[in-house]
Amino acid sequence: MIISTKRGTPQQEIDKIIKEFEDKGLSVTLIRGTDYNVFGLVGDTTKIDEKLVAANPYVESVTRVSAPYKRANRLFHEADTVVDVNGIKIGGKEKVVVIGGPCSVEGAEQVCQIARQVKAGGGCMLRGGAYKPRTSPYAFQGLGTEGIMDMVKAREETGLPIVSELMSEDKIPEFEEYVDVVQIGARNMQNFNLLKAVGKMHKPVLLKRGLANTIEEWIMSAEYIMAGGNENVMFCERGIRTFEKYTRNTLDLSVIPILKQKSHLPVIIDPSHATGDWRLVEAMSLAAVAAGADGLIIEVHNDPEHAWSDGAQSLKPAKFAQVVEKCRAVARAVGREM
Ligand code: PEP
Ligand code: MN
Repeated sequence: MIISTKRGTPQQEIDKIIKEFEDKGLSVTLIRGTDYNVFGLVGDTTKIDEKLVAANPYVESVTRVSAPYKRANRLFHEADTVVDVNGIKIGGKEKVVVIGGPCSVEGAEQVCQIARQVKAGGGCMLRGGAYKPRTSPYAFQGLGTEGIMDMVKAREETGLPIVSELMSEDKIPEFEEYVDVVQIGARNMQNFNLLKAVGKMHKPVLLKRGLANTIEEWIMSAEYIMAGGNENVMFCERGIRTFEKYTRNTLDLSVIPILKQKSHLPVIIDPSHATGDWRLVEAMSLAAVAAGADGLIIEVHNDPEHAWSDGAQSLKPAKFAQVVEKCRAVARAVGREM
């Protein structure tokens, strides 16, 4: 961290600043200029709030040189993290994985049928929401525990691990017992109490990017989970809010190379929520694999026109299989298996 003080700052204030940071275990180097003094702080500055430092009336500017995250930081963990979900490996040089399934679980028969089709189409995990974060309180809110048990049935039938969204702490025991990957939805990316609780869980986490969050804020959310002891976090880009109206959200594919540079955690792309339109899912899936994504999570429905949620962005099973096949060729072209 680099701090500069205002012109004419009295020596006793400079001494105070140096002492404050040295007391926090940092080493402070002072460069005296003719007008300004510049302080270089060396050590663990993650706990220092730069806004508070800037509140000192003698401080002219504060610049953070290192990232405010540690556990998620590539700098301190050079190797790619490979997350293991019931033997399926995600991240690093491992195969690109495809997770498919309905937005909402609508019943055992529905989710079991889709699970079989997802598996046949090349998917290796099943997604399905039982607790749904809906914009309207009058919209379908999910089948709850019943939906989770329907997913369990589909796993028993197909062997596909199950991914489902956790919305509140009180369901943690249920997820700990039945779910293989805990999804934290976009709307809860900064629900810090939930993140802390998930940090104590023993299941891998799929952390979606918030609707209007920066990449750094997103990494900080992963840091929350990791700081609690759960290091098995995967990022999931699902599009962000922009002024564009032709798509539901704007898919930010630049997060793939950026996250790979800043962090060691796997990156999954959700082209379904990112576009909101099944017609766009294929192209965005191909682009995501080309850009180095470790996996895709795609909404699949056997009757999209009558889906209880997100039908417009859901692929029919045959189309899903086609998309996976095309992605395979792209994966090979960029040196990955799928
Ligand atoms: C979902 O996966 O169905 C979902 C609600 O996703 P998001 O949190 O990205 O909107
Ligand atoms: Mn959905």
